[in-house]
Amino acid sequence: MNERVKYTLSEDDIPHSWLNIAADFGAAAPILDPATGEPVSLAELAKSMAEPLIEQELSTEPEFEIPGPVRDIYRQWRPTPMYRARRLERVLDTPARIYYKYEGVAPSGSLKPNSAVPQAYYNKQAGRTGLVTETGAGQWGTAIASAAAMFGMTAKVFMVGVSFRQKPYRRALMESYGAVCSASPSPETAAGRAILAEDPDHPGSLGIAKSEAMEVAWSNPELGYTRGSSLNHVCAHQTVIGQEAIAQMALAEDYPDIVVGPCGGGSTLAGMCFPFLRDKLRNGRDIRLIAAEPVACPTLTRGRIAYDHSDAARLTPLSRMHTLGHRFVPPPVHAGGLRAHDSSPLISQAVENGLMEAVALRQVAVFEAGITFARAEGILPAPESSHAVRAAIDEALRCREEGRSKAILIALSGHGHFDLAAYEKYLNGTLPDDEPSEEVFQQGLDSIPQLATL
Ligand SMILES: *Cc1c(COP(=O)(O)O)cnc(C)c1O
Repeated sequence: MNERVKYTLSEDDIPHSWLNIAADFGAAAPILDPATGEPVSLAELAKSMAEPLIEQELSTEPEFEIPGPVRDIYRQWRPTPMYRARRLERVLDTPARIYYKYEGVAPSGSLKPNSAVPQAYYNKQAGRTGLVTETGAGQWGTAIASAAAMFGMTAKVFMVGVSFRQKPYRRALMESYGAVCSASPSPETAAGRAILAEDPDHPGSLGIAKSEAMEVAWSNPELGYTRGSSLNHVCAHQTVIGQEAIAQMALAEDYPDIVVGPCGGGSTLAGMCFPFLRDKLRNGRDIRLIAAEPVACPTLTRGRIAYDHSDAARLTPLSRMHTLGHRFVPPPVHAGGLRAHDSSPLISQAVENGLMEAVALRQVAVFEAGITFARAEGILPAPESSHAVRAAIDEALRCREEGRSKAILIALSGHGHFDLAAYEKYLNGTLPDDEPSEEVFQQGLDSIPQLATL
């Protein structure tokens, strides 16, 4: 093994296609129209989303070609670097070989532009003049604001209220790109007004913000609704990460035994893991894939696999996936990007079929890992990314106990420069370790629709 710490590819190594793991999984449960209980039609989905994206969503083709103009924009920050975390290994005194692929070098500081750019591109191609979306912690909203600006489009972002208040600079950044940003629930939509009538101080949730964004898209055919995670096409767009990582692991003359990623809606995890998973399925590679989620929103470890909506007002079609129920409202953890009640159907399928594992982590332990990583490697991870770091450190410590060396690859999905208020709380000992009560879980699970009554 050489002593290199950075594995860099050239622009020519930017992938030419996105991988669609749906092709490898075989028959998937169809997306259902809640009004009829029948598989949803392309026309119904096209009411809010651009057609090429819907075609990708429903496709079982093994890959999609990346359009030239999208690949040209990717060149600005791709391929992203992969590093060997030698200083972290020394701090942990572990025989494990730890690698991380860093998506924080993208202009808006996270992996989100990998999908925001193509989504803006396809909407522009379809003749839409603006984009509307929801955002949790603000990374997706920022990426959409920036991508819309690149293509000369407007952007409207509904940001989960608690994050809107925790992270005022995220909003300032979105507005700098020219987007209009509202705290959700907002008085601007019927969905928002209904929630505010019940509880004027409602903290908001990703599900509620989604309802608001979809309502706005439905009322204006000029606007394209975009989603930052979960959906099959978003997972596909993110596979540039894992494809590059495979090439970079080859440069390192190594191959991961374990790959870990944070899991909110599942796009980081899908983007990093699905290319490795295809390698495992086609070439019999032995590899463990681990999803790291917060105990505050433990979708994969405590959710049910069922048909459910992705939004609180039940505007989205029904997908079969892990869900805590569309009315589940998690406590306001600082990893706002991991507060989704539902998971990606493809990630759910991977977990259900034993191809991927999931762990739920406590907030304080996650921030501790983020700080350990920052002091060793110099990068302060986004709190979402720190979940993956925590899970990787736990695996590396297990290697130490067992006296075994394993290669561990972390999907470091973004930097934490907009999350310093949360790190400050951790540093002064006031960061809570909130876990939902059994009652909150039950309320969520009770909101999962009974399919027979559709
Ligand atoms: C959005 C986001 C996540 C979580 O979303 P996934 O779709 O599960 O990846 C994780 N990390 C960062 C930095 C994000 O922006």
